[in-house]
Amino acid sequence: MHAMMLKNLRSPLEWIELPDREPGQNQIRVKILACGVCRTDLHVVDGDLPNPVLPIIPGHEIVGRIDAMGPGVTDLSIGQRVGIPWLGHTCGICPYCIGAHENLCDRPLFTGFTCDGGFATAAIADARFAFPLGETGSDVALAPLLCAGLIGWRSLVIAGQGQKIGLYGFGAAAHILAQVAKWQGRSVFAFTRPEDIATQAFARSLGAVWAGGSNEMPPESLDAAIIFATAGDLIPMALKSVHKGGRVVCAGIHMSDIPSFPYHILWEERQLVSVANLTLQDGIDFLKLAPQIGIVTRTNVYPLAQANEALADLRAGRFEGAAVLVP
Ligand SMILES: [Zn+2]
Ligand SMILES: [Zn+2]
Repeated sequence: MHAMMLKNLRSPLEWIELPDREPGQNQIRVKILACGVCRTDLHVVDGDLPNPVLPIIPGHEIVGRIDAMGPGVTDLSIGQRVGIPWLGHTCGICPYCIGAHENLCDRPLFTGFTCDGGFATAAIADARFAFPLGETGSDVALAPLLCAGLIGWRSLVIAGQGQKIGLYGFGAAAHILAQVAKWQGRSVFAFTRPEDIATQAFARSLGAVWAGGSNEMPPESLDAAIIFATAGDLIPMALKSVHKGGRVVCAGIHMSDIPSFPYHILWEERQLVSVANLTLQDGIDFLKLAPQIGIVTRTNVYPLAQANEALADLRAGRFEGAAVLVP
């Protein structure tokens, strides 16, 4: 197999050849068809996340076909197309796992961060965390659903039932979530980098009723806001944009420090919460709903060997939607 491997933090991924790996107990091996590039991959490369494991193959939006199964795998089959997400393994016995909050497991493995991921021609995965994808939709179009879509979905559920939803940072996750929220009959207010006219137009094309800079206030107060961007100073901005009792959800795995802010923008029962990882049920729920919604992902395809270019373009905001690597 071939892979783009991170050997040292803050350095380019390297093209390497590895011997084929065999799946162990309750594991599968997939031949990778496509793997999305997520902002979290940038955090992995940059060393923003605690306790990095090196060397590591990044990538956690994997679409592949099963070509080998280890002992104990009974409900999947050779040739089946599956998606492999960020949460790659959970212990099954900690209080969070027992309480169906396995997204908060005490001893998890994360695909492309603490176990090898999808910037490769093949990957080994825990069969429990391989979601059957069926045959509808292209491999490339489905890849961004495995993290941008799933984390976006969990964030929207946690944001509550409000009608007016603000999305701060209109990248891969928000461009999927805008379509979900519109399908649910909600109104989306999109916040981009100030003066980013192109992304604001992109957001409107996906049904946003308003799009503006993250330094602006929306034309009316919001029921909830979800922050996908990594700038901590968006938190006070988002708190000011929601009305009394409104909720602000931080969807990212890493943010810059939050500046201090006056208590009154939190008061009146506004809530500030974060979302971490995903549960198996999130994956089942969202991937069942996605084809009904008819989500159309905007993808920018790169050959696997150009993973560094894809990461650089993501960092610089040089495309709308999501980047996807194809072996
Ligand atoms: Zn656990
Ligand atoms: Zn991700």
